[in-house]
Amino acid sequence: MIAIKDITKSFGELEVLKGIDLEITKGEVVVVIGPSGSGKTTLLRCLNILEVPTSGSITLDGHTADFSKRLAKKEIDYFRSETGMVFQGYNLFPHKTALENVMEGPVIVKKESKVSARNKAEKLLTKVGLGDKLDFYPFQLSGGQQQRVGIARALALEPKVMLFDEPTSALDPELIGEVLQVMKDLADEGMTMVVVTHEMRFAQDAADEVVFIDKGKIIERNKPSELFTNPKEERTRQFLNLIS
Ligand code: ATP
Repeated sequence: MIAIKDITKSFGELEVLKGIDLEITKGEVVVVIGPSGSGKTTLLRCLNILEVPTSGSITLDGHTADFSKRLAKKEIDYFRSETGMVFQGYNLFPHKTALENVMEGPVIVKKESKVSARNKAEKLLTKVGLGDKLDFYPFQLSGGQQQRVGIARALALEPKVMLFDEPTSALDPELIGEVLQVMKDLADEGMTMVVVTHEMRFAQDAADEVVFIDKGKIIERNKPSELFTNPKEERTRQFLNLIS
């Protein structure tokens, strides 16, 4: 479904991704872990071309973006519209209700009718447990609720893959569980997901594969049961010791 081939990304002199290869099959949940500054966020942003990689290619469901060539806007639009991104901050429109936030993408980007977008938004907000908060504004919602609106909003564009960038790291501890549960439900339904997180329990419970990145390279990837209990690489072991 997704094939990342030899992706590099530099910001000026700083090479942040140094040749990443990764294949993700449909329905797979990949959790990306690694030290601060190792390039996790940059990798996610490259996946939906919010950052344009310096070299390499990404294929998503048969569409290839080859970064050795100038990309056509059409190609970038394809990657942006087929990937749903959930950020650490919720990035909701403050002056729009939960329902309006979720309707916005389908109406503006996909030119859906308001009636159908509203129907879909209601269903999605109900799915993330906010069926009784449709007309609430972000300031009337807890951080966990706002993040669940963020997830519903990303789902409204019916993406092929969902990208999560530390979705719970801005939340109070007691609100983390409700967001992780929504993500776990999505994973169980067969959504293809790439998740950058420090929540190792989530990785243990929901990931098909955990990818450990350090200094812009994949050091090790494996099933969570293997990677967490029997890391092959010394650097993985050191990192896991630090965070446990
Ligand atoms: P964290 O866990 O702290 O969020 P990360 O692994 O997600 O870290 P990135 O956010 O991908 O790391 O950043 C990797 C490196 O790239 C850092 O040194 C960062 O300063 C640098 N970087 C990221 N974005 C930019 C940018 N737009 N311009 C310049 N440097 C950047």
